[in-house]
Amino acid sequence: MTSTFPGPAESGLTVVIPCFNEVDNVEPSYREITNELGHHSLELLYVDDGSSDGTLDVIHTLAAADPRVRYLSFSRNFGFEAAFSAGYRYASQPWVLHIDADQQFPAAESRKLVAAAEQGYDAVFGVRTNRQDPLLRRWGTAAFHFIGRRLLRIEIPPGATAFRLVRAELARKIVDLRLGTPYFLATVPRLTSRYTTVPVAHRARERGESKVGMGFLSSHAIELFVGFTRRLTTAASATALLAAGIGVLAAGAAAFGLLGANATAVTLFALLTVLLLVSSLTVRYLVVVGAGQPRPRQYYVRESNVAIDVEDRLFTSEDPGGPRRIDVQLGKGISA
Ligand code: UDP
Ligand code: MG
Repeated sequence: MTSTFPGPAESGLTVVIPCFNEVDNVEPSYREITNELGHHSLELLYVDDGSSDGTLDVIHTLAAADPRVRYLSFSRNFGFEAAFSAGYRYASQPWVLHIDADQQFPAAESRKLVAAAEQGYDAVFGVRTNRQDPLLRRWGTAAFHFIGRRLLRIEIPPGATAFRLVRAELARKIVDLRLGTPYFLATVPRLTSRYTTVPVAHRARERGESKVGMGFLSSHAIELFVGFTRRLTTAASATALLAAGIGVLAAGAAAFGLLGANATAVTLFALLTVLLLVSSLTVRYLVVVGAGQPRPRQYYVRESNVAIDVEDRLFTSEDPGGPRRIDVQLGKGISA
């Protein structure tokens, strides 16, 4: 495959590092990333997703010592998707490399992503060959890919993770779509066919805890299943209609005395269940998929050392990218 666009090795990278309460990880991960990728023209863009454990203080220290370090800090915890979306939005280099702060993806593995991108891809996703996460998480991901890819036929790069290298313009286009259901993995294939996956190593988390709970993951997955295809809602409606038909027949039979008293009660419960199922699916459909539904903004920035659009700030009087940036660069520290 050929592309006239320069690859990441030549043109430079923004490493986007989302952080939520990663106080013990920020510094070791900074060292690993700069050791492994320091030969590239590099920007490190930390997105502090409303941490309360001193993560931002560590980022301040790094930014004061290294001009390659940029950061945004959110006004509260807005979640993983919002954190990396803001990072992609404000990346200054032509390629975005996403690495989590917890070092689960070894920075050295990004060389494999770079090598693949050099072949002319717009996006390259790491796939964990030896995933070091709890069994429940691994099963959850397997179920997610089976339902999403096989049953619902949503185009998702097989096994793809957040460890990825993407042309910044593409990443920004996706973020700017402001989707009701933001789902990066499933949106890339809607914009380009030039994406691929490469096998990468994975480590267990050594410091801190996973911030992504099963509750979040399952509701996010359901949003994908409902928002990126009609198959699930169509199947659910067909099942509900079938159940309703059976319920009506049973109710009719009960009314004509063809069923006993117990059967009448069972029939009524069945009818009620069907009604609940239909109404809950309808509500979900309207809420999640309703065309052009406005949603609250995904994130707000309180502080940064890069210039931030006014619409992405919570308080316009606090000036991200303004005097605070100068303070940081002079190494005077910040009074936040
Ligand atoms: N993260 C974030 N906001 C959140 C949750 C997570 O910025 O609300 C960051 C987190 O600090 C880490 C990355 O996203 O750098 C991936 O999170 P985590 O390691 O907890 O997820 P897991 O590896 O367990 O899927
Ligand atoms: Mg992790």
